[in-house]
Amino acid sequence: MWIGIDDTDSAQGGCTTYVATEVIKELSNKFDLIGFPRLVRLNPNIPWKTRGNGAIALHFGHGYGKKFEIGHIGKKIYAYEKGINKFEDVSEELEKIIHARAFLEDEKTNPAFVICRKKPSYSFYKKAVRSIVTIEEAKMETKNCIYKAYKNGRGIIGSVAAISWKPYDRTYELITYARKKWVDEESVIKMDKECKSCFDNYDYENKYIAIMPHANSPVLYGIRGEDADELKKAMGIVISSQIERWIIFETNQATDEHLQKKKIKDVKPYESVIVKGIVKKEPHVIKGGHVIFSIYDGNEIECAAYEPTKRFRNIIKKLRKGDVVVVYGGVRKKPLTINIEKIKIEKLAKVYEKMENPICPKCGKHMKSMGRGKGYRCPKCGIKAGEDKARYEIVERGIKPGFYEVPVVARRHLAKPLKRMKLS
Ligand code: ATP
Repeated sequence: MWIGIDDTDSAQGGCTTYVATEVIKELSNKFDLIGFPRLVRLNPNIPWKTRGNGAIALHFGHGYGKKFEIGHIGKKIYAYEKGINKFEDVSEELEKIIHARAFLEDEKTNPAFVICRKKPSYSFYKKAVRSIVTIEEAKMETKNCIYKAYKNGRGIIGSVAAISWKPYDRTYELITYARKKWVDEESVIKMDKECKSCFDNYDYENKYIAIMPHANSPVLYGIRGEDADELKKAMGIVISSQIERWIIFETNQATDEHLQKKKIKDVKPYESVIVKGIVKKEPHVIKGGHVIFSIYDGNEIECAAYEPTKRFRNIIKKLRKGDVVVVYGGVRKKPLTINIEKIKIEKLAKVYEKMENPICPKCGKHMKSMGRGKGYRCPKCGIKAGEDKARYEIVERGIKPGFYEVPVVARRHLAKPLKRMKLS
């Protein structure tokens, strides 16, 4: 059976991954975990998410084949490579855990769990990671399932979507939990340098420990990587306060599965898109330090590198009219803007700078401009010359074609780092 859980935490605290560890602790007495527990990130642009829009899927049954250690929750936790499905109504156990651990009193917390015999359709996950889906659509996928949706019932969406994910591409995250929160920065840097398949751990540019959540949560840190075994080695390198439990999740983080290629006319709010266009409005800085420009493909849309993207904004500021770019990012509703996660500069336009006004053929002095686009005139002799007669030089652009991404500090869970794209 598959169990999906979502929306148990609030801005005040909690974490759905912690609820998952409670469920694993409880149900691993009766069942085997088949495969890793899953942490599935969904549409990062929905307004009602608490933080990272993550939901959980767990596969329980009778395991066989290779058995591997995936965590420690009071005891060693194992998962099996393969398994035979077992189905049982475990809603009583799940309800108990939700009542004990979910922030039900928070108006924005609307938990749910689903127990399915079979996985719902993959297309439901795809829709939930890329756009907005309704509670009714989620319920359509729950035929022959047992579920409980608390309060406004919205948690059912993430619960079903998490189960319906298929890891065509995947990464892993080892999450540790502790009461006291302390992590030694130097050890994080050491781990990042030694564990080559890990990513997004430390932001060297901004001296920021990315493995620690800033929110109120039972999580001490989470290390992300391509290789579950190397994550255990990484945990051994990080020096921290006493870890009370840890678990490795298989995730869709860093896969770019939220993105879809679009023409500007088809871009809708709350989606995440890949759009190719020519820079039309050159970058300008607005209040708050955000950098805005626009691109054009027959229609025009604004793009933004917001202040939290720090030095990435310096790259964006160098864009000029005529540059051909592909932007990757989430779409904000008002004003309709693409919030850039990464950008590919395909072609840089030739930018010319005027170095010298034309010289009068009669007196040999520089001519004066008659106004923008109106040409030149010698003030002494009255001889005129066109705009093109001035001396121009090609400007050194200071950037090269290629991919650029926001720093680790501003990275979204689903955004595929250039390191994973083998581009950095
Ligand atoms: P995390 O567990 O990482 O903190 P989160 O707390 O940010 O995640 P939730 O508290 O789970 O997010 O809130 C997100 C809510 O939005 C959930 O109720 C979920 O079911 C719902 N939801 C998720 N994806 C979609 C979607 N594509 N369309 C509509 N609702 C969604």
